[in-house]
Amino acid sequence: MADAIRSVTIVGSGPAGLTAALYTARANLKPLVIEGLDAGGQLMLTTAVDNFPGFQDGIMGPDLMAAMRAQAERFGAEFLRGNVTGISLAEQPFRVTTSDGDIATRALIVATGATARLLGLPSERTLLGHGVSTCATCDGFFFRGKPIAVVGGGDSAIEEATFLTRFASHVTIIHRRDTLRASKIMQDKARANRKISFEWNAEVTDILGTGAVEAVRVRHADTGVEKDIPVEGVFVAIGHTPNTALFQDQLDMDAGGYLVTRDGSRTSVPGVFACGDVQDRTYRQAITAAGSGCMAAMDAERYLEHHGAEAHHGSTSPIHPPPTTSSAS
Ligand code: NAP
Repeated sequence: MADAIRSVTIVGSGPAGLTAALYTARANLKPLVIEGLDAGGQLMLTTAVDNFPGFQDGIMGPDLMAAMRAQAERFGAEFLRGNVTGISLAEQPFRVTTSDGDIATRALIVATGATARLLGLPSERTLLGHGVSTCATCDGFFFRGKPIAVVGGGDSAIEEATFLTRFASHVTIIHRRDTLRASKIMQDKARANRKISFEWNAEVTDILGTGAVEAVRVRHADTGVEKDIPVEGVFVAIGHTPNTALFQDQLDMDAGGYLVTRDGSRTSVPGVFACGDVQDRTYRQAITAAGSGCMAAMDAERYLEHHGAEAHHGSTSPIHPPPTTSSAS
């Protein structure tokens, strides 16, 4: 029975989860990584990653994730495909429910990441992947020589708009207010870019086109006047939502739903640690996610050292069948 309780289970397999896996595997904790249906996280949707230290000529996002996964696997991390459908943190051991059965674990590392927010228009859904995108680095290339729009006024929107001028003939930034939220330096760069123009106080009310984007319809808040801007692509850059639904009423979150961590990666429940974008609304970089994954692994290791035996022996919960693990890469 004893070995049916995992020491560490990691939920999520982006840079945070895989770094936590590497460190806990090297600490001989035999971590189980539940990869999620979108294994590899947001970097699987990017092309070249030029700002991950150590790769002088850059590396493709999916290649970086495959290398991180293989590295963790080399030290004994196990992987389970599929999604977590429920988590109970009420008592030790914690219980993680997946489509393959329940997992009992003494420490849990949450690395479930964040998902790009959408405007909520039916046309946006229909045209997603057909001209509507949430990832400039993934899809910018397809808009070579074409006019496009970027929606949003934060750092992401301005950074993406600037990046997209490498490809697009023109980029219209559509923002719902008349002041940008983005940092001054990024604003200045965008304002100085002759390929960028701004549509202020404008709400996107529809995206037009059948099978491909032909125009974006905006309504100006001050006048109520609607107009169509001819574009072939719409990049929605209005922020991200942390993937924390599973932890509602179980872990402390901030107003935006991000997990609150303190003293490193500790959440409000002892034995549960969080890393990566699920607890980071500010930096959201692969390298910061990886760094926080390392912190979570070290914090979990220390927790197990101090509380592991106690937590384990204190368990009265029946242990459900161990999961089917896969080591395929
Ligand atoms: P953000 O700062 O939350 O900005 C989201 C933008 O989208 C805001 O301008 C917001 O408008 C707008 N928006 C939100 N919901 C909308 C809706 N339903 N319809 C229309 N517009 C909507 O998100 P972010 O730009 O993704 O940045 C997130 C964090 O990452 C920030 O802390 C940012 O500094 C950081 N970041 C940093 C860098 C960098 O330093 N290189 C790059 C990217 C992101 P309002 O302004 O009216 O609220």
